[in-house]
Amino acid sequence: MPTTNDQPPAVRIGYGFDSHEFRPGIPLKIGGVTLPYDQGLGGHSDGDVLLHALTDALLGAIAAPDIGSLFPPSHQKWKGADSVVFLREALKRVREAGYHVSNVDASLILVAPKIGPYTSAVRTRVAELLGVHSDCVGLKAKTPEGLNLDSAAIAHVVVLLKKSSSEKRKMKKKRRSA
Ligand SMILES: [Zn+2]
Repeated sequence: MPTTNDQPPAVRIGYGFDSHEFRPGIPLKIGGVTLPYDQGLGGHSDGDVLLHALTDALLGAIAAPDIGSLFPPSHQKWKGADSVVFLREALKRVREAGYHVSNVDASLILVAPKIGPYTSAVRTRVAELLGVHSDCVGLKAKTPEGLNLDSAAIAHVVVLLKKSSSEKRKMKKKRRSA
């Protein structure tokens, strides 16, 4: 029989997906880092496919509205915007919900450029943005074998949130005063 449990869960998982198309002559931003390449990712804001998937993973973990609802691509305000803005809003909501990031794991799927030489820089930047150690940010780059997706970059991200201790204290206090 299902039991009633009004305690917030100790951990929450989130998943995010995003894709963008390569366009010539614009900067390539991945994970908040500008990579040297002759094409960038077009579309919403600065096209940072990794930060968008990460933002959606964070929002999804706390069942908040997704990135497209919070920052509509149709809105001029977000054209060319730095995707760090979206990530910071998601992190703010995570904190307000009483959680913090435990770790993140991401897969990037793209033909070029080779991500290997930049993996460390991207992990470091994402860790810095999330306020976690770079050991808590996993990043794998794959090529889209057999998918016929040579002109796109795709990101999948999972994130694990843990209940913050201050929230635990608050909850205890609430229970005591109840
Ligand atoms: Zn996007």
